[in-house]
Amino acid sequence: MRVFASFSLDFQALWLIIEAPETTKATIKMDALATVKNVRLTPVQVPLSRPMRTASGTLPGAALCLIDVETDAGVTGTSYIFVYTPKMLAAVARLNDDVGEMFAGVPLDPGRTFETFQSTFRLLGIQGLLGMYFAGVEQAMWDALGKTEGKSVCRLLGGAEEPVQAYDSFGFIDPAEDLGLVEASVGAGFMGIKIKLGIGDFDADLASARAVRNVIGPDVALMIDYNQSLDPATAIEYAKRLAELDIYWLEEPVPAEDLAGHAAVRAESPICVQTGENWWFPSGARLAIDAGASDYVMPDMMKIGGFTGWQKTAAMASEAELPVSSHAFVEVSAHALGSTPGAHWLEYLDKARPILKEPYDAIDGYVAARGPGLGIEWDPKKVEAFAV
Ligand SMILES: [Mg+2]
Repeated sequence: MRVFASFSLDFQALWLIIEAPETTKATIKMDALATVKNVRLTPVQVPLSRPMRTASGTLPGAALCLIDVETDAGVTGTSYIFVYTPKMLAAVARLNDDVGEMFAGVPLDPGRTFETFQSTFRLLGIQGLLGMYFAGVEQAMWDALGKTEGKSVCRLLGGAEEPVQAYDSFGFIDPAEDLGLVEASVGAGFMGIKIKLGIGDFDADLASARAVRNVIGPDVALMIDYNQSLDPATAIEYAKRLAELDIYWLEEPVPAEDLAGHAAVRAESPICVQTGENWWFPSGARLAIDAGASDYVMPDMMKIGGFTGWQKTAAMASEAELPVSSHAFVEVSAHALGSTPGAHWLEYLDKARPILKEPYDAIDGYVAARGPGLGIEWDPKKVEAFAV
């Protein structure tokens, strides 16, 4: 029996021809893919329920670019990116004005679109705002694809809408003021709590982490995030002193691009090292994994290149036997982790809640993907209220 497939170059039709015994020849014609009509971008600045204080700056709110991909099938795919500072909102809106037109007429084929995008901007390179913007479009294309198929993105990727274990993600914790919030999270069922350290001196760090450990008890995982603020020697020293608090992971102890530094910390730290949110695209993940930079990985859906980049990275992590967690972006991460064998933890850091009709809740500390598509819809009144 011979099996071969042919793909039309314009992606308008996909034919699969199976040549079996001479007497049973079958030809299956699949429906043509819908195509993109245009990409709309709406900049908003939304409040965070808990302002995020980190060792590398404070985030009072979330500067988001809402991305809507209109298709000729009548469905609109939706996603968003987080650009960290409101100063970047206008720049990304301008990017969409200039670059968005390249998606017009493109079939809903996110993987091939990723390749085309990469080769189009090979000389420039796609790190930074351009790559973040592309990831938003890619995710919205998946959403549109899911909606046209009546399935969740997670299911299109071969997964299921199974609940994924989540940890509640805090910024710097002031033991005098914030412990009630941590207690409430554990009461709501979270079995993991992450806090940020590195704002004051180490004694302040230790006091903060100890206060949180006392509140959450011994059975809840406690993760620590230094947001790239230490040098390797200091990180190793701190890790040894924090270990008595049974810390689940030490996140980005040194600058993200210092892969050798991460590997050095990993070699000496009694606490597992976690990193990945600042890996740019699968090529960045490849370098970090090859450098032995971490025990766990947590790619960011926006910086890793959307679902296409995530899948490639998850495959590399699986090969290296590194458990995969997510970074921010609760909604797309639920779909990405739901389709990732051996998914580890979902970071519950909910930035889009204020502008969604139906936010993704954590139920007893778990978050499940839902469809169709990404299962999200803007609340138009809230979008208008927070528009920049
Ligand atoms: Mg982090």
